[in-house]
Amino acid sequence: MTELLHKTAAELGRLIAAREVSAVEVTQAHLDRIAEVEPKVNAFLHVDPETTLAQARAVDERIAGGERLGPLAGVPVAHKDVFTTTDMPTTAGSKILEGWRPPYDATVTSRLREAGLVILGKTNLDEFAMGSSTENSAYGPTRNPWDLSRIPGGSSGGSSAAVAAYEAPLSTGTDTGGSIRQPAAVTGIVGMKPTYGGSSRYGLIAFASSLDTPGPFARNVLDAALLHEAFSGHDVMDSTSIHAHVPPVVEAARQADIAGLRVGVVKEFGGEGYQPGVLARFHEAVELLESLGAKVVEVSCPSFGYALPAYYLIAPSECSSNLARFDAMRYGLRVGDDGTRSAEEVMSMTRAAGFGPEVKRRIMLGTYALSSGYYDAYYGQAQKVRTLISRDFDAAFHQVDVLVSPTTPTTAFPIGERADDPMAMYLADLCTIPTNLAGNAAISVPCGLADEDGLPVGLQIMAPVLGDDRCYRVGAAVEKALEDRWGGSLLAKAPALEGLGYQHG
Ligand code: GLN
Repeated sequence: MTELLHKTAAELGRLIAAREVSAVEVTQAHLDRIAEVEPKVNAFLHVDPETTLAQARAVDERIAGGERLGPLAGVPVAHKDVFTTTDMPTTAGSKILEGWRPPYDATVTSRLREAGLVILGKTNLDEFAMGSSTENSAYGPTRNPWDLSRIPGGSSGGSSAAVAAYEAPLSTGTDTGGSIRQPAAVTGIVGMKPTYGGSSRYGLIAFASSLDTPGPFARNVLDAALLHEAFSGHDVMDSTSIHAHVPPVVEAARQADIAGLRVGVVKEFGGEGYQPGVLARFHEAVELLESLGAKVVEVSCPSFGYALPAYYLIAPSECSSNLARFDAMRYGLRVGDDGTRSAEEVMSMTRAAGFGPEVKRRIMLGTYALSSGYYDAYYGQAQKVRTLISRDFDAAFHQVDVLVSPTTPTTAFPIGERADDPMAMYLADLCTIPTNLAGNAAISVPCGLADEDGLPVGLQIMAPVLGDDRCYRVGAAVEKALEDRWGGSLLAKAPALEGLGYQHG
């Protein structure tokens, strides 16, 4: 069974299509792995083997009936618990939605189903996707498989840990300020934020609507591209969905050739506040790109320094509006409704009991920033900064094809270290946030282990709007070169996985 866990999603899809192995067998192997390691990792909020195996059986039957399904048919996927699912609860990591059964599937969910992917369960996250560590989940933190005392990143930390711990070959995430790329970086896997509007937000519980972007996690670049392709593309149910073809991400991941490509190193990212081991691996990755035939230049993006403060006005503003729907009337928790209290009192008691401290902090911040008299000074100003950041990207992409930076300033930090210090927590997304504000595409691929702590470091590759394929092309080239150097994937070096009972190769 370990053999099945070790295979890539692409290989599993091929074997299932050729009926050399069944979707049920592959699914069972992953369910067994989940049962074995979940007590230590806590990547999942909900696992329901019966529902999952029924999905796998249905795929096997379709294949046996001669149906031609997509390349990932029968392959299991762990699904972030912020996408609605009709057959599993959807909580967004919050007590306010505990046990909620949505009446409809998110577009990402229904596309996973149409492509024949088997949903293994729903993964843990920071409440309403607000955080960088999963410590803001109302259901306890997820642990990093590399070192169980450390965070797996966030907000999609359940999804990154599930893939890094071999509980799933693939998972879904959402990236509003870095919530796919940062968890991918700190768990040594691949995570991609597509172009905003390239993947549908319909049925994704909203955090900040102008930033939220669904995307894939995988242990290698090609698998991420296959999953990206499976659930992306125009959706009539999402008015911000882009009316364009999905960029050729799978082809790009297979191409993996970057001769002549112009790569820009963002001058503003690096230096103070960055862990030396992160910078060392990043500089080596830049040298590697050069050795593979890329032309590397330094590029300045002067407004990037304002991205973090602008994000922490825009995202809370949008969240304060989006989270108004949790009013104890329509769905979810209801507290204090004993016939003596007004609707307003019930709403207030419910929101006080149902939301965690970080969510409340952001609702207050956002309400303040949007209130009359302050709107122009805070929200309006942040929107102007957003335009400056887009202009920096535009200018940069006139000079180069992609930009690169470390994905995160540090490796995975210990659980608890930043829990009481929101500012320190916010810094985890220093390098990822500009891309969210501008709406373009970016990926994180593993580029080695930091010398200080032996933990994974991510290389971020940023591309223009709808240039998602460039991220995969460069990511695949880096991956191939590094795997040749390491004699296998980075995860094969993960000491903690031995403690989780995983025998490599
Ligand atoms: N860590 C960032 C935040 O807390 C980003 C979260 C996200 O991308 N969902 O807002």
